[in-house]
Amino acid sequence: MVLSGKMAAPGIAVGRVHVYKKAGFIPKESYVPKGKEQSHLDRYLAVKKSAFDELEELKILMQEHDPQKAEIFIAHQEIIEDVVINEEIPSRILNERWSGDWAIYQVYETVLLVLQKAADPLIAERAADFDDVRTLLLRLWYGNKDEGLSSLSEPVIIAAQDLMPSDTASLDRNKALALITEKGGLTSHTAIIAKSYGIPTVFGIHGLLEAVKHGQLAVINADEGKVILDPEDEIAAEYEQKYDAFRKDKEDAEKYLLKPARTLDGEKIDIGLNVSGVSAGELAPSSYVDAVGLFRTEFLYLGRDALPDEEEQFHAYKKVLECFGERPVILRTLDIGGDKQLSNLNFAREENPFLGNRALRFCFSNPDIFRTQIRAVLRASVYGNMWLMFPMVNSIDDIRRAKETVVSVKEELEKEGKPAGQFKTGIMIEIPSIALLADYAAQEVDFASIGSNDLCQYMCAADRMNSEVEPYYQSYHPAMFKLIKEVTGAFTKHGKSVSICGELAGDPLSASVLAGLGMRKLSMGAGSVASVKRALCSITVKRASEIADKVLECATAEEVQRELGKIKE
Ligand code: PEP
Ligand code: MG
Repeated sequence: MVLSGKMAAPGIAVGRVHVYKKAGFIPKESYVPKGKEQSHLDRYLAVKKSAFDELEELKILMQEHDPQKAEIFIAHQEIIEDVVINEEIPSRILNERWSGDWAIYQVYETVLLVLQKAADPLIAERAADFDDVRTLLLRLWYGNKDEGLSSLSEPVIIAAQDLMPSDTASLDRNKALALITEKGGLTSHTAIIAKSYGIPTVFGIHGLLEAVKHGQLAVINADEGKVILDPEDEIAAEYEQKYDAFRKDKEDAEKYLLKPARTLDGEKIDIGLNVSGVSAGELAPSSYVDAVGLFRTEFLYLGRDALPDEEEQFHAYKKVLECFGERPVILRTLDIGGDKQLSNLNFAREENPFLGNRALRFCFSNPDIFRTQIRAVLRASVYGNMWLMFPMVNSIDDIRRAKETVVSVKEELEKEGKPAGQFKTGIMIEIPSIALLADYAAQEVDFASIGSNDLCQYMCAADRMNSEVEPYYQSYHPAMFKLIKEVTGAFTKHGKSVSICGELAGDPLSASVLAGLGMRKLSMGAGSVASVKRALCSITVKRASEIADKVLECATAEEVQRELGKIKE
């Protein structure tokens, strides 16, 4: 039997299924005898405290590995302390004599229903966090131990209706071959954690729990969103082989990690790292890259109640600069809006958020937030090789306006006796309008980095978050390569640095073509570094240029794909 869903994290797995059913704590509607109200309230308060403490332990455990993920448990602690919930539950117990468990269940249910109906998928996905907290409170109310996923005895494919962030975070990752669920948002915390652990994950599989049996053999092809239950022997063998080949290939690529990316004819290509924070985990790959090619600083702002202040940002930027020493750190100013909304600010609802008050536009309309970040950046610039970059630039006016802010902040700091160090100023090329003006833009800034993810979305007019229009979002659209060549040429002509930090740079096939187009700096997520280095070390620039020329002659994305396929031959 073959079931389908959506890929939340790529990969292949073959193994036995472990059906994970959380204790369904659904209390009966019940009321407290008169005079017993206070004891139920006291018990609720004690359970609440134990839940908070349990989350504190999980938070500390995660903080050692990755402080960003520990944020999930901080968010859960905040839910536990939520003011409205904590007025409502005691009031129901004391005034309406609801039993404590019934009050917990019902009050959370009200919040959950509101969240689940939210039009914004990011808000709707937060319902999972509230549900997770409610389950924790009820488990403690009934005095149950956690029968979670932290103590699996052998490697299995975990099948569940839904997985909560705490399930995934406390998961023994060596025992999880894959995760398959009926529910789950592709941008949920669970998906983020699964991806960072490298566990193949498929979400949104209709009828999964009806179809699947505990202990059943299954094959997961997460890349295609496919789950094959009870595969025929040949299919299981085929996937065993695919899995082995996938693993061997990964091991082979990893041999290139510490080598420089030098083509067969001796051209060095700089490899940058894309980071979203400054935790030890994020910065661990620093030893095998030449730079931070993109620091997505907005992740410092997400999922918290208050914005990070100047001091907190200063310390984060200083940390990454010190870690990279003389190597450049391209720090992108706040790219908020679009799919990244700040829960701590009231965003006006927009019909087309990706075309709206996003990134630099948001910073222009919130000068205090922008200036605070630039103050922190300039103060930190003393500690390393800082390259400051503005996202979503649309015009030369945008560039000049952003630079004016930098000049004014620099003067302000000088007056305060806090002079900035040396730093460069640059832009992201993500909007076709500025790409077409690259020749002018190059005369205004020190460097540029091409954000191919957004460039593709704006060139193809296809929302990068909307799976319905995914066939129109064509990263291999020939127009992408034409424009990238123009931009690279324009910046190179003016002696200005140019790089690319979108997903195209992390794809070994397109990476070679980019080198063939004249690009000498590619930046990518840690997981792509090995395979991109291997690809670059296995080709000459001459050959890469020949393929790039062919790509520039293509009329369709399919033709480009075919040309890229020849690289492997
Ligand atoms: C891009 O648009 O290519 C990019 C690197 O930025 P982000 O993916 O963060 O929008
Ligand atoms: Mg972008």
